[in-house]
Amino acid sequence: MIKLYLLLGGNLGNKQQVFAEARTRLEEQVGIISAQSAIYETEPWGFESEDLFWNQALELKTTLSPEGVLKQTQLIELELGRIRKEKQYDSRIIDIDILFFGDQIIKTANLTVPHPRIQERKFALVPLYEIAADFIHPIFRKSLRELLDECPDQLKVRPIDIS
Ligand code: ATP
Ligand code: CA
Ligand code: CA
Repeated sequence: MIKLYLLLGGNLGNKQQVFAEARTRLEEQVGIISAQSAIYETEPWGFESEDLFWNQALELKTTLSPEGVLKQTQLIELELGRIRKEKQYDSRIIDIDILFFGDQIIKTANLTVPHPRIQERKFALVPLYEIAADFIHPIFRKSLRELLDECPDQLKVRPIDIS
């Protein structure tokens, strides 16, 4: 079993329902969720939109390969109705990124792990820090606390109460 960290993101549709469905399908198709952060409401990164994002970090245990996890997460994105647009950064129903896969470093045509932009994004660092404060980034050799302290991103990230 390998421990991996995913980030859910989305700013369209019924976010509570979409996130719940994504977690259910991840448990069925990837592995058990062993930790999950709060849901954070975050400002769009890389483009302008009135629709704020939700983000949530998840820790899962899996027996799949990194490519196998990517295949399943992309399938779940499609099943939940994600439509890919030409513009890279745009509103979307659901995005599932692989942040870390154990402490493996992977670079293939369709997969880069650790996710190459974690350190630039408070919307990824803040939820991840909540569930993996002491995790050491395998390339930078820094903890999430250190990466967060050094991150220049000024966009708002705040936990919300959805209970
Ligand atoms: P960003 O990667 O900057 O967060 P994005 O999530 O909007 O942007 P997508 O359109 O969802 O980008 O994905 C583009 C491609 O990124 C995917 O088809 C996938 O092959 C590739 N990819 C590379 N590394 C990863 C990773 N760690 N997790 C998820 N997808 C990845
Ligand atoms: Ca993403
Ligand atoms: Ca993605």
